[in-house]
Amino acid sequence: MKQIYLDHAATTCLDERVLQKMTPYFTTIYGNANSQHSFGRDAQKAVDEARDTIAALIGAKPNEVYFTSGGTESDNWALRGVCHALKNKGKHVIISKIEHAAMISTAKELEKEGFEFTYLGVDSEGFVDLKELENSIRPDTILVGCMLANNEIGTIEPIKEIAEIAHAHSALCFTDAVQAMGAIPVNVNDLGVDLMSFSAHKFNGPKGMGALYIRTGVSINRIISGGHQERTRRGGTTNVPGVVGFAEALKLTKSTMKEDSEYVASLRDRFIKRVTEEIPYVKLNGPKDGNKRLPNNADFSFEFIEGESILFSLDLAGIAVSSGSACSSGSLEPSHVLLAIGVPEEIAHGSIRFTFGKENTVEEVDYTVEKLKEIVNRLRAMSPLFDLKGEVKNV
Ligand SMILES: *Cc1c(COP(=O)(O)O)cnc(C)c1O
Repeated sequence: MKQIYLDHAATTCLDERVLQKMTPYFTTIYGNANSQHSFGRDAQKAVDEARDTIAALIGAKPNEVYFTSGGTESDNWALRGVCHALKNKGKHVIISKIEHAAMISTAKELEKEGFEFTYLGVDSEGFVDLKELENSIRPDTILVGCMLANNEIGTIEPIKEIAEIAHAHSALCFTDAVQAMGAIPVNVNDLGVDLMSFSAHKFNGPKGMGALYIRTGVSINRIISGGHQERTRRGGTTNVPGVVGFAEALKLTKSTMKEDSEYVASLRDRFIKRVTEEIPYVKLNGPKDGNKRLPNNADFSFEFIEGESILFSLDLAGIAVSSGSACSSGSLEPSHVLLAIGVPEEIAHGSIRFTFGKENTVEEVDYTVEKLKEIVNRLRAMSPLFDLKGEVKNV
């Protein structure tokens, strides 16, 4: 059966060239990068080169790049590490309402420790309100955190402006750039951020490999205690193959980013146009302006049906997507992002995220539209809200 992968925001496949670059570091150059012999030196050399490559690609200095186990750890570290380092300066932090779970759940835990969080609202397209940010900042605000691009609805946030506001009030600015990296230009100096997290598996690199950018001079405690790795800021034997793969993936991704993003955006736009024209009672979530939306993202709410039912039916047809609900404690909770942009709860339940990649084709987009039309019609025909002709009942 035909298999179509439209879940690139969840993860991407490892680029074959990245795998080739990594392989020797599993088998022949397997030394511990901290060891004082030739095996160790060879490993360390690869790590140094990878760090230089990554730093140059994001506009950072090599000693500002810290390797982690991925986006989740980097988000945890930025938030916890800054809170704990600056608790004598202040205990107030501002983050957006639409952050990734790695941020929201860390914030909830820090609240229990006595830190105070303000959760910034967003407009109907998911953009944070800069006025509200300005009004929420207090003398004891130590950090403002906002993602560069949202993983569910693709909104690209005005981080440069957010950083300027934070700095004007002597607060630090953190951005989660996990979804943005490889899709849009990301440079720490253009953005003006102090901390930034990113993760290799979202741009055809290995899973379990990420980094936190920490600008020189930023106060941050470590959260993983151990040896002297990562300039004593993050313990644990360096994942040498992961680091090498991370750098290679970022290098390859950036080298063709412009063409790839344009191509992926053309698939997205074709899909959005066809779905909104050919399926009734459907709403596109996130920015209408394609330039303010991640090139790969199309997120829809289909009225009168459950997202889970659509997801399972598409899966049976070989099409992999993601739903806007997260199964927590046995019940399906609608996405916090969709609720934050004002999608009513019952409509949020009918949401599906399609995220395209450079290996997808126009034929796959068209096939998915055809399948989706069949599935939505079939599910709606079973819905008590529809009459036999597939029209909404006048209730
Ligand atoms: C995927 C993702 C993360 C988590 O990264 P992992 O490397 O999978 O832990 C964090 N933030 C955003 C926006 C993401 O999309």
